[in-house]
Amino acid sequence: MAPVDPLVLGTRNPGKVEELRALLSDLSLTLHPSSSLDAPPDVVEDADTLDGNARKKARAFHEHTGHAALADDTGLEVAALDGGPGVHTARFAGPNATSEDNKKKLLEVLEGASDRRAQFRTVVALVDANGAVHTFEGICTGTITTAPRGEGGFGYDPLFQPTGYEHTFAEMPAETKNEISHRRKALNALREYLSRAD
Ligand code: IMP
Repeated sequence: MAPVDPLVLGTRNPGKVEELRALLSDLSLTLHPSSSLDAPPDVVEDADTLDGNARKKARAFHEHTGHAALADDTGLEVAALDGGPGVHTARFAGPNATSEDNKKKLLEVLEGASDRRAQFRTVVALVDANGAVHTFEGICTGTITTAPRGEGGFGYDPLFQPTGYEHTFAEMPAETKNEISHRRKALNALREYLSRAD
């Protein structure tokens, strides 16, 4: 097995930590969320690609702890916005935008649009305990609804209806989202890598 145990989760987002825990539960790794670290690094996500940000975050947590570290960066790519907001998804409505601000802006810019196709793309970067970096990608396609629906999940979940489902991510049980999500697909690729490295 590649030197990945224990594994530091380089995210402060409690929603993502829960998802990552659920998605990695069968790998029997000891997981350390960044909230368990003393003075976790505050990484500025200023790369111009998801891949660049994921690598930057994972490397920072690896260097801080000396352990293997995992980080992801996710973008929402909307067809009518030429693939935007993409790497700018977290700051779509401005530098200090909240999820509410971002969802409101997305509904505004798509007002009246008939093409509402979109996809979430996640890049997961793994820096193993030796400092070697590996990246994995997952995509979940869907459409942007015309109004928020559902209370679950986080971020843009109330506006994202995955292909083949009648519910938004926020309306479905977390387990269902976790089976089909962009992060699940990226982590499946990671899991396949870890099993090959066995
Ligand atoms: P980050 O990868 O945590 O930086 O997330 C980038 C942006 O995408 C943030 O605005 C998140 O709220 C949003 N986001 C990331 N993953 C998801 C998801 O699974 N559902 C909805 N929004 C997400």
